[in-house]
Amino acid sequence: NISTSKNQQDGRKLANGNCKNQQVLARRQLILQHRKSLPIASVERRLVEEVRKNDTLIIVGETGSGKTTQLPQFLYNAGFCHDEKIIGVTQPRRVAAVTVAKRVAEECNVELGQKVGYSIRFEDATSSSTRIKYMTDGLLLREALLDPLLSRYSIIIVDEAHERTVHTDVLLGLLKKVQLARSHPTTNQHNFIKANAKGREDEPRSFSPLKASESAKSTSLKLIIMSASLDARCFSEYFGGAKAVHVHGRQYPVEVLYTYQPEPDYLDATLITIFQIHLEEASGDILAFLTGQEEIESVERLVHERIRQLPDGSQNLLTVPIYASLPSEQQMNAFRPAPSGFRKVILATNIAETSVTIPGIKYVIDPGLVKARSYNPVTGMESLIIIPTSKAQALQRSGRAGREGPGKCFRLYPESEFSKLTDSTVPEIKRCNLSNVVLQLKALGIDDIIGFDFMEKPSRMAIVKSLEQLFLLGALSDDYKLSSPVGQQMARLPLDPMYSKALILAAEFKCLEEMLIVVAMLSVESIFYFPREKMEEARAARKSFSSPEGDHITLVNVYRASAECLEKSKTTNCKEKTMEKKLNKWCRENFINYRSLRHARDIHSQIEGHIQQMGFSPSSCGDDMLQFRRCLTASFFLNAAMKQPDGSYRALSSSQIVQVHPSSVLFRTKADCIIFNELVRTNQNYVRNVTRVDPLWLPELAPQYYAADS
Ligand code: ADP
Ligand code: MG
Repeated sequence: NISTSKNQQDGRKLANGNCKNQQVLARRQLILQHRKSLPIASVERRLVEEVRKNDTLIIVGETGSGKTTQLPQFLYNAGFCHDEKIIGVTQPRRVAAVTVAKRVAEECNVELGQKVGYSIRFEDATSSSTRIKYMTDGLLLREALLDPLLSRYSIIIVDEAHERTVHTDVLLGLLKKVQLARSHPTTNQHNFIKANAKGREDEPRSFSPLKASESAKSTSLKLIIMSASLDARCFSEYFGGAKAVHVHGRQYPVEVLYTYQPEPDYLDATLITIFQIHLEEASGDILAFLTGQEEIESVERLVHERIRQLPDGSQNLLTVPIYASLPSEQQMNAFRPAPSGFRKVILATNIAETSVTIPGIKYVIDPGLVKARSYNPVTGMESLIIIPTSKAQALQRSGRAGREGPGKCFRLYPESEFSKLTDSTVPEIKRCNLSNVVLQLKALGIDDIIGFDFMEKPSRMAIVKSLEQLFLLGALSDDYKLSSPVGQQMARLPLDPMYSKALILAAEFKCLEEMLIVVAMLSVESIFYFPREKMEEARAARKSFSSPEGDHITLVNVYRASAECLEKSKTTNCKEKTMEKKLNKWCRENFINYRSLRHARDIHSQIEGHIQQMGFSPSSCGDDMLQFRRCLTASFFLNAAMKQPDGSYRALSSSQIVQVHPSSVLFRTKADCIIFNELVRTNQNYVRNVTRVDPLWLPELAPQYYAADS
């Protein structure tokens, strides 16, 4: 019946509206109930009281007890945001900051970016009305450059402190200083004013003067350190015997199963276990821990392949990835319940260990591995390696299965291996290149890095090595002071110092556009993908972008081709959504990872913004790739390597023997001299993102390092 009267239509709309309202109400009711049922809800009053009484408080509580989502709300409701002050909550990982902020905004029934917001590198969802702000710890460190006393914050909660990322450790040291400066406005100020003394007139924001009157007005800063592990002693000691309180969680028994033999291929073992659970175990979602995006995506594809081979009735399995660089609108997918009758398998990095709690999990698959940074202070080389987890991590992982009821954890290694694991993970600050940290501390006016009050001191050698590196990059003067404009500019860019330097140099070499693309593309994992079943096609597709000069130019070619695809859809007046669809299709046809490319495009536009603010004028070398390669050499001279008679390479700075990674376009063609961006250690040392350069350019473009006669 087509001719429905207007009244009838209005009536239907109203009914629909009512139905929607009811759904919204029901959802709010559900959220309210959920909040009330969290273990932390019963100790709200006590926690607020402790925060009032103590300037520094340590809160230890099991994962999922409600620390991250609830405590900031308790404190907000208790009036800790008076005078427009903000409660800041730092997370080691972007994904956690984003997903938690979204959840809390929903719990508070406000739009994200209003009262509740988040801010992570390259993405800001806050406004002047934001009072509860989730952010990465690295971001708060950068904020301290602009506002050394962090005067907008009344409380800073350092969450997931047990993870001991390098940013967390530096932040704790800094916050200790800030807290002291804010409680005694006249003492300790010199630490913060110093930076300004050197600040230039044209950069008023980056090193803003800290006037005595301003600091006197600023009130004391409350610090809360939150941790999932039971060992709060080290934090308490570091903060002069600060009080620690425990929030008890709810944990159901988890049956832990081991393999009989070590598994030679843990990805295959993961796959087999996923299907074993799916076909044999009762309902409940699966959480599998993998080491990175590449692994997650390849397991995802393999799972899809096998689902298709299953009989009709058992194809009810869904995959959901979650890892750090996943576009934020996709991150929330992990939290959505699977449609009824379906089982969800979440493929996650160690982000799902403690940072985010995903409801519905009953089975955990733990291959027992994690990707970690590793640094050799003798050679000055940092690399990524896959190592066994610690016991603490293994326990955290199995705990994820027992949140809502009894669960099972499948450890993909023999039980005898468990006892060999280290108790806890070595803090990252002891196993990473410190040049970024040193540059940031210098920019904050903290000159004596070796004397800085680190919770756990990095080795003297590692500090000296990074000072040296920063000197060679031109960031520090020969008395290791941050006095040059180049150093100041490098400190302002939210990038690894070597990448910042590359951009600054690219402005001189007139190839800023190309370098910007390279830096953005190198900031994401795996632009190309090679599905097992279509290896040949994928290779052919990549060949169309390949440059015989190496991976950097190849990446520029990919980016330019994708931009062209978008340009074309722009001229045909497509809507944004259609454009994205076209880009997605283009990516599929060219075996480009759409998620990674999208992320790289976001990063590109963010860095472009920084660069413009800093007054660099755009420039491109067009097709003059010689110029661009020279610029790459001038930027990454610390990562140069020479071919050896046997076809391997010797890294010039460390004398380490390395191989070109099979993913490089220079894997087969052996250039005499290369620069590279990444060192990956598996059974061998591999270098990735490699470009062929002329060895004579090294002494010419980096004379500070390569004396002409050597
Ligand atoms: P903790 O910080 O103590 O580990 P959280 O505050 O992160 O705990 O989580 C408390 C509860 O909120 C958990 O039960 C978790 O499942 C739920 N939760 C957190 N984030 C989300 C989300 N984005 N969607 C649905 N539930 C969530
Ligand atoms: Mg938490």
